[in-house]
Parts: sequence; structure tokens; C-alpha cells
Amino acid sequence: MSQKMLRIPLEDLTTVRVKCKGKIQREGKSELDCPMVYEVAIDQLGNAFPNDQCPRCNQSYWNKSAMTNPLASLSNAVQGLQSIHKQLEIEFDLPLNHAGESR
Ligand SMILES: [Zn+2]
Repeated sequence: MSQKMLRIPLEDLTTVRVKCKGKIQREGKSELDCPMVYEVAIDQLGNAFPNDQCPRCNQSYWNKSAMTNPLASLSNAVQGLQSIHKQLEIEFDLPLNHAGESR
């Protein structure tokens, strides 16, 4: 089945949308999905969460003893590839039917 694709050059990636999937506990009530959504510049991604957790619901995003900050790793990888864009071209092919779809 052919599918329409959206091709995005790596150089166009400047902002990342990060959605917390934690829960907010409410005493005597059912828990709520954490509403926090962050839009972070790619070069700030590694420093976006100083305690590696959500400031709203306090969910930890990763185990600090088991892994280095994966957001910093992503930021470093993207910036590293952007710095060599004259030697290497990276593009992301995204299925168009997923564009704008919320998960
Ligand atoms: Zn949260």
C-alpha cells in the first residue's frame, strides 16, 4: 500500500515537543493524566529538566544510575549531524496520515 510521506530534513528540526505521561494523584479521587506539554529548543533539550523529572507531577523520566540523559543524547546527536550537513544529509520520512495525530 502506497502512503503519502512527509519528508523533513534534519536541519529543520529546531523544536521538540515533549509530553509528560505521568499521573497526578489526588487524595480521595481518581488520578489524572499529567497535562504538561513542553516545547523545547533542540539545543536546550539536555537542560530542560534539571531534576530529570516533571515539575508538575514529579514523575522521574529515567533512572539516572542506569542511563545518561537521553534527551541530552538526542540533542547532541541532532546538533552533531546538523554541524556536518554539508557532508551528510539526514531526512525523516513521516507518514502523512500521522501528521497532527495526538497520542
Ligand atoms: Zn508530569
